[in-house]
Amino acid sequence: MHTAKYMHQILDLALPAYDELFDEIELEGLVENKGILYIWNDKDLKSRELEINVRDELGVKQQIVNKHEIHDLEPNIKPIYHAGVYYPYARHARNPKKILLKLFELFLKKGGKFKKLNIQEVKFDNEKPVLKTEVDEYKFDKIVITCGAFSKKLTDNLDEKIPLDTERGYHVHFKDCDHLLSRPVIFSNRGFGITPMEQGLRVVGTVEFGGLKNPLSKSRIKNLINNAKYMLGDLPEHEDEWLGFRPTLPDFLPIMGPSKNYKNVFYCFGHHHLGWTLGPISGKIVSGMIAKENTNLNLDPYSSARFN
Ligand SMILES: Cc1cc2nc3c(=O)[nH]c(=O)nc-3n(C[C@H](O)[C@H](O)[C@H](O)COP(=O)(O)OP(=O)(O)OC[C@H]3O[C@@H](n4cnc5c(N)ncnc54)[C@H](O)[C@@H]3O)c2cc1C
Repeated sequence: MHTAKYMHQILDLALPAYDELFDEIELEGLVENKGILYIWNDKDLKSRELEINVRDELGVKQQIVNKHEIHDLEPNIKPIYHAGVYYPYARHARNPKKILLKLFELFLKKGGKFKKLNIQEVKFDNEKPVLKTEVDEYKFDKIVITCGAFSKKLTDNLDEKIPLDTERGYHVHFKDCDHLLSRPVIFSNRGFGITPMEQGLRVVGTVEFGGLKNPLSKSRIKNLINNAKYMLGDLPEHEDEWLGFRPTLPDFLPIMGPSKNYKNVFYCFGHHHLGWTLGPISGKIVSGMIAKENTNLNLDPYSSARFN
């Protein structure tokens, strides 16, 4: 309940935070407002009840849908399901990279500066953080570490024992098939989902504890393909096998806030399955912390100090 409550606190603000950014870029059909559908095919799946009750308790808008309603929403899914939940206000991105590039251009236009460097170590000069690369050093008043699953190397270096790990996940695309679905559909029993995107249908899922260095697992790719065919029937040859690293902490809450040991170092990572969704609100929260703004949010649950 603790995790659900404090994920809900930030998820509830995720769309308004995106809207503030979207006011400043041309979206050109890159975001759809058609909700998200979760389906399952096991009548006695007790965990669904628990999820639904927790969401009710938190005031999350959800509609339980029966077989007919699922068919009306997504007629191309084979009738493998028993029931589902529909979240009508949810949105999905048709091409996250294109949106990100537009935000990046906006950042530069507003005077932001970008350098692509591999930071080896954080050192200090009179309490000011100094970022060290293989060739150079850069001194700042304050820094924010936002290296996703790779942040642990830097936090270890700052003498903070943060138990960050990665939940590896995969996706593939089925090109020119996005007309088969109108919205993301998650098949809860098997832990995968399919989203209609510019690249085609994106089939995504699995959770693998395998660290940052091991290669992509072909059997997991195969599993995604088989699941997609189970749900939609015949599909063409897949493309773009991808492995990504979700940054995850044991209590499934991100870390946002100052470092325990160094007041000019801030953290913002550990957003596990929801980093894309939570990017804008997390940025707002951390910039507010740095600017010492007042907030009505309870930010203690995101502190790195919870692991000490
Ligand atoms: C299969 C899959 C599906 C997902 N689907 C969704 C979804 O539908 N919705 C959603 O909200 N989230 C989703 N996620 C989760 C989302 O991708 C992550 O939560 C998000 O990428 C985390 O963002 P981040 O910026 O913290 O880390 P990252 O995206 O990993 O970015 C970290 C950045 O830091 C850089 N970096 C690392 N180390 C260093 C260093 N030493 N020096 C300099 N730079 C460094 C990296 O190059 C990288 O650019 C999915 C993840 C996976 C794997």
